[in-house]
Amino acid sequence: MSVNTQNQLLIAPAPLVDIGVNLTNSRFSHQLDEVLTRAQQAQVKTLIVTGTSVEESEAAQVLCEKYPGQLYFTAGVHPHDSSQFQKSTYQTLFNLAQDKSCVAIGETGLDFNRNFSTPEQQVNAFERQIELAVELKKPMFLHERDAFSKQSEILRYYRDNIVDAVIHCFTGDQKALFGYLDLDCYIGITGWVCDERRGLELQQLVKNIPTARLMLETDAPYLLPRNMQPKPKSRSNEPAYLPWVLKQMSQCLNQDELSLAQQTSDNAQRFFRLP
Ligand SMILES: [Zn+2]
Repeated sequence: MSVNTQNQLLIAPAPLVDIGVNLTNSRFSHQLDEVLTRAQQAQVKTLIVTGTSVEESEAAQVLCEKYPGQLYFTAGVHPHDSSQFQKSTYQTLFNLAQDKSCVAIGETGLDFNRNFSTPEQQVNAFERQIELAVELKKPMFLHERDAFSKQSEILRYYRDNIVDAVIHCFTGDQKALFGYLDLDCYIGITGWVCDERRGLELQQLVKNIPTARLMLETDAPYLLPRNMQPKPKSRSNEPAYLPWVLKQMSQCLNQDELSLAQQTSDNAQRFFRLP
């Protein structure tokens, strides 16, 4: 891959889609134009902005209106925020999802690692959002941490009626990976795979992901890829750093960067029904 000599950005060999970026995060608000310009320079041409609550989903929608064709968004309530999921939330998300820039329902799922909302609240919010995705025939953007057994049980029950689902920021074990692939889920890989310590298991596991089910994401501003050279002064991740995830995955899979870039972007285009 080539490097932009002015700002040292690694440039992807083909246009990439960052399928998960928390662009409504306050760390981006004062420098949005610059962040999006750098993403373009690195060939990260399309960004899917993650909606994690009603408010964040609405904020994501506003961003998409400012940058049409470059930004799309998901509408949903994160498992951490499930306690805020009320009866009226279904209709609010339904209305948001009518926007042509809304390309998936989520981020939703189960997170029993921290239980910021109770497991019962999480299951309820997850099931309501599955029903919404089924009704709207929209793909689902899913999160899961320490909850594979319950999440896969729920997904299996609804799976035939869900058009598509991606397990974003997959960091689970082999049992979870094979379980989600059995359910014909897509798998989103972040800079976690670039971590020379806690990413080691994932570096081996990714070899089992069929190429047609793989997508790439930064989850920025989190998870700065630790293979970056030089490391940015600000330790904040951004979409322009997605080529470092591509580079690491190309090494893990022993596949050239160009074809991997093209295949993962094709997958994202198909998954999110991008124009
Ligand atoms: Zn997540």
